[in-house]
Amino acid sequence: MNIIELDKQFVANTYNRFPVQLTHGKGSIMYGEDGKEYIDLGAGIGVTSLGICDDGWIEAVTKQLVKLQHTSNLYYTEPCALLAEELCKRTGFKKVFFSNSGAEANECAIKVARKYAAQVKGKEYSTIVTLQNSFHGRTLTTLAATGQPKFHEDFQPLTPGFVHATAESIYELEAITAKYNVAAFMIECIQGEGGVVPLDYDYVHELFAYAENHKILTIVDEVQTGNGRTGKMYSYMNYGLTPDIVSTAKGLAGGLPLGATMMSEKVQNVLGFGDHGSTFGGNPVCCAAANYVLSKIDDKLLAEVAEKGEIIKKELTGCKGVESVNGLGLMVGIKTKRAPSEVAMDCLKNGVLVLTAHDKVRLLPALNIPKELLCKALEVIKNACAVV
Ligand SMILES: *Cc1c(COP(=O)(O)O)cnc(C)c1O
Repeated sequence: MNIIELDKQFVANTYNRFPVQLTHGKGSIMYGEDGKEYIDLGAGIGVTSLGICDDGWIEAVTKQLVKLQHTSNLYYTEPCALLAEELCKRTGFKKVFFSNSGAEANECAIKVARKYAAQVKGKEYSTIVTLQNSFHGRTLTTLAATGQPKFHEDFQPLTPGFVHATAESIYELEAITAKYNVAAFMIECIQGEGGVVPLDYDYVHELFAYAENHKILTIVDEVQTGNGRTGKMYSYMNYGLTPDIVSTAKGLAGGLPLGATMMSEKVQNVLGFGDHGSTFGGNPVCCAAANYVLSKIDDKLLAEVAEKGEIIKKELTGCKGVESVNGLGLMVGIKTKRAPSEVAMDCLKNGVLVLTAHDKVRLLPALNIPKELLCKALEVIKNACAVV
């Protein structure tokens, strides 16, 4: 039996996979089992931030792997402590909790917010306000946070205490705050799974100001937008604001599972011994990988990310079959006349891997993708969009 048939028979049916078996790659090139070459504009889903099997990344990971692949969180390890220090240095946050995924990073953020609000305002202040069309994960709590009812239907009851606002008017937040006892507002500055939808600059500023005035915490979900993706270290930096809590994961360790929840001075000591934990969280190999990834995300790389984002917009805007191009840095959504899934299949046939999100074709290439490769892939996308 071939691998695709084997997978279909034995792996749970939760993924509508592309009909390709990938075997290996280097940088932004991936190879199918039949030897076919692909330019990768998905990077997993914004995970392999330095591409596939980057030499320095491999060296950093294997160096740690042959020393100590795991120890429990009952002991200290160097990669974990160094990573926490580096994240705090780059953001001004004071403490980091490590987990293994985006959903877990958000779970931790929600726990911190609820405990803080209970301490400061009272136990009834447990409501977390998120936005419609958001995506925060697949656990029952982060699903409750996710403002897309289609994900909720079959899994009731979800964790209570979540309200979804439209990202349009600050008056709606006021109405919700009058009705519910609100602990925190939780947003993605660019809604990723929702179709690469950047939040309005003024709206985000008003939301933060309102939160500040009403002792409501701000949580920014940077699972997809974080770690250089938008041309800044974190997407909230594009808005010139400082959240109380930030969660991140996807691209942080460049392809190994790692989530991080960063806490500001205000909430840094909310969690105490035994309040939270993770067997695998802060794994030394994953942290060594992340330390390497961060060492590569400097001002030069961030400027290149922003520049390449502009190239994508310039190349695709106004092309036949392209209705709009939006996003920031190397997080791009393309609204196409054709169904996004059809465009993606055409691209695949012609050697380019792209993603879709909601009603868009979505690009999340490696941050270090060479410009020539990117431009070559954009030609393929153009052609796929132009088909009528
Ligand atoms: C992917 C994603 C998550 C969930 O991350 P997992 O690692 O799949 O649990 C949460 N929030 C956002 C914004 C995401 O893009």
